[in-house]
Amino acid sequence: MDILVADRAGFCWGVKRALKIAEKTAEESQGTTVTSLGPIIHNPAIVEQLHQKGLKTEKNLEDIREGTVIIRAHGVPPETFQEIEHKGLKVVDATCPIVKKSQRYAKRLTDEGYQVVIVGDRNHPEIIGILGHSNGNAVVLDDPEEADKVSLKEKVGLIAQTTHTVEEYERIQEVIRPRVKEMKACDTLCFETTRQQSSSVEIARQVDIMIVVGGRNSANTVRLANMCRETGVDTYHVESAAELKLEWFSGKKKAGITGGASTPDFLIEAVVRWIREIPGN
Ligand code: SF4
Repeated sequence: MDILVADRAGFCWGVKRALKIAEKTAEESQGTTVTSLGPIIHNPAIVEQLHQKGLKTEKNLEDIREGTVIIRAHGVPPETFQEIEHKGLKVVDATCPIVKKSQRYAKRLTDEGYQVVIVGDRNHPEIIGILGHSNGNAVVLDDPEEADKVSLKEKVGLIAQTTHTVEEYERIQEVIRPRVKEMKACDTLCFETTRQQSSSVEIARQVDIMIVVGGRNSANTVRLANMCRETGVDTYHVESAAELKLEWFSGKKKAGITGGASTPDFLIEAVVRWIREIPGN
């Protein structure tokens, strides 16, 4: 079976940066506790590896009582920094600079009197963080249907979740533009994600089975799998090679592989090896 791997599969620049910061902080901690507020990346295998190196993970700030708190690539609302300071904890900020840019847009639009409209998943930590930078007054929507129904003010500023697709963001702009007097759409999409999405879709169009590797809690991996599926190819989202099933590959001639921004190379390589070892290959 031929195997094609998307050339942008796996860790993005922002995730690599956050991991390096977290690892270095844990190494230099000199016995003090270092805790990531939420999993440092949406990948259980890497979270476990870092745990072995001394990086703890807590979902809630209330459960962190000492040491250093790492802010992961998704960022947090400003109040979280205030709470950390109030608790007397140290903070190391690993927020991705591209997410920081969205947070700055949210603040500036709010200060300039725009109603901030955030396009993305309202439960995603990145969006919760950006909401906090717009004084909590922004509205969040995820698709053109919601954009058509939401109540809007005269001046609207749009911000997209960094991992959103260009096409969907543009569709939402088309729905909102005629409904308001003034619309400012900020360019907040992550170029790394956009390239990863287009290289994965390009592969998906050339194969008859597509494997997307990454955490099920990774929004970016889930979106990647949906985009591959939309090309019409049989697409499977797995967290590791252990989930692959022989019957998926029966009668297939060409397999494509990609991975989300939080998927380490070793998981993608393990999937390649597994497929190569299919009997009769
Ligand atoms: S996907 Fe883009 S915005 Fe998100 S962490 Fe990676 S580089 Fe940063």
